[in-house]
Amino acid sequence: MNSFKAIFVNILIPLLISLVLGGVVVYQEIIPKILFSLAPYIFYAISILILWVSWHFNRNRFIFIIIPLVLMHIGFEYFNATKATALFMYASILFPLHLLIFLLLKERGLFSIWGISKIVFFALEIGIVLYFINYPHTNIKEFIDIKIFTISLYPLKDISAVVGIFVFFVLSGLVLFNRYLVYNSSFLMIAISFYAGLYFLKTPHASEISLLLISIIIFTLLIRESYRLAFYDELTELPGRRALVEDMAKLGMKYSFAMLDIDFFKKFNDTYGHDTGDDVLKMVATKLSEVSGGGKAYRYGGEEFVILFPSVEVDQAFIHVNLVREIISKSAFRVRNTKGFKKIYVNISAGIVQNSSKDKDPFSAMKRADNALYKAKKAGRNQVIQG
Ligand code: GH3
Ligand code: MG
Ligand code: MG
Repeated sequence: MNSFKAIFVNILIPLLISLVLGGVVVYQEIIPKILFSLAPYIFYAISILILWVSWHFNRNRFIFIIIPLVLMHIGFEYFNATKATALFMYASILFPLHLLIFLLLKERGLFSIWGISKIVFFALEIGIVLYFINYPHTNIKEFIDIKIFTISLYPLKDISAVVGIFVFFVLSGLVLFNRYLVYNSSFLMIAISFYAGLYFLKTPHASEISLLLISIIIFTLLIRESYRLAFYDELTELPGRRALVEDMAKLGMKYSFAMLDIDFFKKFNDTYGHDTGDDVLKMVATKLSEVSGGGKAYRYGGEEFVILFPSVEVDQAFIHVNLVREIISKSAFRVRNTKGFKKIYVNISAGIVQNSSKDKDPFSAMKRADNALYKAKKAGRNQVIQG
């Protein structure tokens, strides 16, 4: 399960955006009218940006999510009342499911077989909705009008409320248990904003602002995603070397610096295969990320890691690095063999230093930590040496 802190951190940005725009709708008398007339143009502009950025980053799910919203916006604006009501009805049932499906589908190139199947599926969805809007069927209407709840949820149909509750629970479950928190928390807020916009249909500007809100949530998600791509290592999910260089530039007068390396990892790869090696790297990275004492772990490259302790004395930092070394050396890793499973262990060695007046920059401290690491290797590995 994800920690409440992680959930809070991830949901904070979409939540704040939602609260601000919700406030704009509630207090609309005191907001200049011009902002509301601009809202649709801002929505279209952000949608175009989303299309462009998602295309470039190969984050196609956002393309499939923003296009139906743009189509809805256009439909509500230009359809006559009957067709707009039908659009409202279908959108309120299908879009949340659509959102969930495209959240869960794997990200692939748009012109791979997988991508093309998504395009076909998407085109079918649009086609079917347009067909039923233009050629209403009484059977479908009867089905959609089914009463399930005793209270009236007007203008929502009971069935769209059922879909909404289902999607809400699935997304909440993902937020609690799935590791892609950035995505899941934003999608949860998107679903909530979407329903709020529909439910408060009669409040002036509410549905328009909810579409704008969703586009802003998606756009900030894309920005956060590109930040993650630039600064985080894909395999271990630790911040990478670029993030380390950025953070080193921000260090204060005092800091400690540890350089760590997995022992005999080449042999490990040769014995158990590269994929198992990757799994071990992930396990080691997770343990390192949980280091105590204010340290932050980075993947420096290959099977080498760094832990930075801003404003911490080396004697203190040593204790925490040594603790994490001990934890890793005692963490069994299970590999499959002919007799079922076998427990194996990996060790790490580390060199640790504190910055001194002789270091002309943090990179000199890093060099000394690397020398200390080399000594730890020579002294028999599975140990931390203070340089
Ligand atoms: P030492 O105890 O002296 O550090 O021995 P070592 O074998 O760990 O040292 P060396 O630096 O020669 O080997 C590092 C190995 O780490 C080489 C490479 O196969 C492996 N490695 C580096 N990056 C990855 C990775 O992303 N995945 C996997 N599976 N292996 C990696
Ligand atoms: Mg190495
Ligand atoms: Mg090594």
